[in-house]
Formats: sequence, structure tokens, C-alpha cells
Amino acid sequence: MSDDLTRPDLESDAELAFEGALRPESLAEFVGQTKVRGQLQLLLTAASMQGRTPDHILLAGPPGLGKTTLAMIVAHESGRPLRMSSGPAIQHSGDLAAVLSSLVPGEVLFIDEIHRMARSAEEMLYLAMEDFRIDIMVGKGAGATSVPLELAPFTLVGATTRAGLLPNPLRDRFGFTAHLEFYEEDELREVLARAARLLHFDLDREGLAEIAGRCRGTPRIANRLLRRVRDFALVHGRDADADAVRAALELYDVDPLGLDRLDRAVMQILLERFEGGPVGLNTLAVSVGEESETIESVVEPFLVRIGLITRTPRGRVATPQAWKHFGIEPSQGAFL
Ligand code: ADP
Repeated sequence: MSDDLTRPDLESDAELAFEGALRPESLAEFVGQTKVRGQLQLLLTAASMQGRTPDHILLAGPPGLGKTTLAMIVAHESGRPLRMSSGPAIQHSGDLAAVLSSLVPGEVLFIDEIHRMARSAEEMLYLAMEDFRIDIMVGKGAGATSVPLELAPFTLVGATTRAGLLPNPLRDRFGFTAHLEFYEEDELREVLARAARLLHFDLDREGLAEIAGRCRGTPRIANRLLRRVRDFALVHGRDADADAVRAALELYDVDPLGLDRLDRAVMQILLERFEGGPVGLNTLAVSVGEESETIESVVEPFLVRIGLITRTPRGRVATPQAWKHFGIEPSQGAFL
């Protein structure tokens, strides 16, 4: 559906399979995020020189920027098996105990959306991360006792779109936190050139640049748009050049800045109903009928990044560029 084409937090099963084929397998193949790559490389090399499991790693940032890919790379580069889990799948401490107690020595445990794990499991995880041990409750009521269980040493890689929601004791137990940033256009061109090569799809430089400018700074969306352009060129029997890219993306309503339906809805409410703000995040979320978590972790970071809104102590405010992009005359009170 075209509405979801530029939503980095929505993924179909078909896309998961497609993404799997395009995932870089080593840090050297991973495009951009130069600083984080260097930091991870150091951490992995040091652990390998000392013959121990690498420190626990927290990957924070908006969806589609490469957190799952990096977790896989950590396992691959350190030659360790990988176990995948997610916060929503861990609803009780028992769910976590089952995963932790079945890890093999040195395994990398990836917990996606770690901020959505049950509170009781978080507490169990503190001890597991620190001492590779958990306490299991046996029995019920007055006769219940806690039995310690030794775990195999492991490396936890947690991913979150909302690092601010993690309790401090959990955040403090990660040896390293990487904050992933939106990608620059030249990096996105590289992501796209790599994907096009793997898909045996010939797209010229200008075409790559056109997609790179419209993918919300996000590799997941870049790859998704590339696939649509490939379909378009195939069906219309056209060369895949910049004109074909523009025609394909117009067909799918992809805005020149890469804004999607929800971004546009938020901006229009902010500009038209609230005269450019300031307005609180929750009010914006209610007005567009979305969870405030989605607005905060998916929509807002990108709108701030491209300079359409700013955050102020009194709420979110539209910038002069936002009025211009949407072709609306600022109301009298705007920018006061
Ligand atoms: P997240 O876990 O942050 O939502 P993923 O790791 O699933 O994001 O990345 C989404 C897709 O984008 C992957 O299939 C991968 O192919 C691609 N991707 C992400 N980051 C990069 C990168 N730095 N270089 C190349 N491809 C990337």
C-alpha cells in the first residue's frame, strides 16, 4: 500500500525476506555510521584478544537504520551464534528465564524493542547481565524459595527506538550504547548502489540520487523504493533512469522530501489547526489518531532532522521552511 511505503516501522513478511537478502554481513560492508562502526570494531577486537564475550551493547535509534543488521554483524564478526527475541515476546520473567537458560556459551542474544519487555523480566535481566546468573522462584506462597541458576556467558545486544524509556539500572548495564543517526544522501546512494548490484538491477547515478533524496534518511525505505522502481521499469519496459524513478515515486505519492502520509498529517495539523504551534506531542498524536510513541519515535525525529519542526519547552513549533514546503501562508501569530 502506498501509504505505508515510507513508514519505516511497518514491515510485511515479504519485505523481511527481501531485506534478509540485502543485509550486510560484516562491519566493512555496513555503510555509514562511521563512528559507531569504529567503536564496535574496537569493542569486538578487544574482546577477541582477551578471549572473552564482548560487552553488552545497546543500539538506539529510529526504525530501519540498521539495528538488527548490526546485531547480526556482531554475532557474525565474533563467530558466535545468534538468538533473536523481542521485548513484546517477553511478557513474564519466565519467558526470559527460558531464553537465558538455553543460551550456549558465548551466544549473542538480540532483544529488539527491549523497552517493551515486562518489568519483572527487566529485573531478572539486571542480574543476568552482570553476573550471568538468575534467581528462579520455586513453589508458591509462604513455601516459595529462590534458587540461583548459573548461565552461560553471553552478549546481550538490545535495540530500542526509545532509549529514554529504559530504566537507568538497565541502561547502565550496557558496556556500550550506540546512537544510530539518519543517513546522509551520499551514504544512501551507497546503500542503494549495493542493493541494486545484489538485485542485478541497473540504475544510473542520477536515479540513485533521486531515491536517496526521498527515503527519509532510512536504508529500509531506500531499499523499498528501489524495489518499486525496479517493478516500474520492468512493467513499463523502460530504462531505469532518473525520469523513471520520478515517475514511479510520483505514482506512489512519495513526497520530494520523502514525507509520508503520517508526517504530512502531523505537519498539516500543526500548521493549520495550531497555527504553527507550540503544541504538545500528545495533542498532536491524538489529533492525527496515532500513538504518541509512534509520533515520538518515528515521525518527530525525521521532521526535526530535516528542519520542519523544532522542539521548544512549550511544545513543537513549525519552522519557516515548513510553511514554505506546504505552501501555506504563516498565520499572524507564527514565529512570535
Ligand atoms: P532496524 O533493526 O534498525 O529497524 P534493520 O537492521 O532491519 O533496521 O535494517 C533495515 C534494512 O536496511 C536491512 O535489510 C538492511 O539491508 C538495510 N540497511 C540498514 N542499515 C544499512 C547499512 N548501514 N548499510 C546497508 N544496508 C543497511
